[in-house]
Amino acid sequence: MSSPRLEVDLNKLYHNARTLTERLDAKGIAVTGVTKAFLGHPDIANTLLKAGIHTLGDSRIENIKVMRDAGIKAKMMLIRSPMLSQVKEVVAYADISLNTELELIRALSHAAQHADKIHGVVLMVELGDLREGIMKADLHAVVRETLCLPNIQLKGIGTNLACRSGIIPDTRNMAQLSALADAIEASFSIKLDIVSGGNSANANWVFNGSELGRVNHLRLGEAILLGCEPTERQAIEGLYSDAFSLVGEVIESKIKPAQAWGERAQSAFSEAPPISLSQGSVSQSILALGHQDTDPDGLNTPPGIVIRGASSDHLVIEAKQCLPIGSEVRFQPNYSALVRAMTSPFVSKVLNGKAG
Ligand SMILES: *Cc1c(COP(=O)(O)O)cnc(C)c1O
Repeated sequence: MSSPRLEVDLNKLYHNARTLTERLDAKGIAVTGVTKAFLGHPDIANTLLKAGIHTLGDSRIENIKVMRDAGIKAKMMLIRSPMLSQVKEVVAYADISLNTELELIRALSHAAQHADKIHGVVLMVELGDLREGIMKADLHAVVRETLCLPNIQLKGIGTNLACRSGIIPDTRNMAQLSALADAIEASFSIKLDIVSGGNSANANWVFNGSELGRVNHLRLGEAILLGCEPTERQAIEGLYSDAFSLVGEVIESKIKPAQAWGERAQSAFSEAPPISLSQGSVSQSILALGHQDTDPDGLNTPPGIVIRGASSDHLVIEAKQCLPIGSEVRFQPNYSALVRAMTSPFVSKVLNGKAG
């Protein structure tokens, strides 16, 4: 089998998706399975759907189109604000989009009228992480106009935390979201279907017995794919954290001095390459795997192996003894390493043992 390759265990993903949807369903929370880390790969998307997830979400309309073209009929949510230049595609392929700009919602309304479709809108509220979101003071005005726009249906409100500034979902900001939902419903005499509390970073909040208030929806990627919550990178109990592995092949193995020699300056990928603390000689191997294939800092190594450096195409590792040329090393990617491996044309994808 060729390497580098990303191996995906669909049975483990099925288990993770099923377990999470069952636990959240019991709390009255619906899950949108987020497909962006795997670029909407139809086999993986179908695994999530079989496991009981009813809607899929992606930040890129291109990935949503891939799933539509593969015949996936599930409801699709665009989870990044649409681009003005793509509203036609958004209306064509997605049922709902997350929005923060009236100018865009107006454009979606035009496009939806043209396509004779109803497009659902969830308004995202800024609750402190300072990525996307309408400021609280402006929310009512945006709701008021959204409700008037033809072919637009206001589905609900939502928020996104922990992505830019690392602000954690907690009782306080989640209660604010609930209060906003109540206030909008009271002011406009409407019912909001969706109150979307966030992403995998909401796992601790949701499973630690917090008062969930009006939150009835989460958008989950990492929790399903890697079985972990992203704020402390803790494994979620009962889930697999090894559904994905990245495999690289050894192309050089030699005993080398632990210390580099010569004048030191910057290296290809680091302004200050770390200086090894080891003395004497080490068993150093090189894998044909680098920054063009993955995020080398995001690889969990098997026991006995330490990553010592990486450039575009080389991963330098140290092991107890020299690894045979042509042998393979298997890593567990974190989210960043997974996304990079998924998008790299050099990394082949293998699903349940078959090229995909
Ligand atoms: C990426 C993303 C998600 C999913 O995040 P995970 O941490 O993978 O669960 C949810 N919502 C939005 C807006 C996103 O951009």
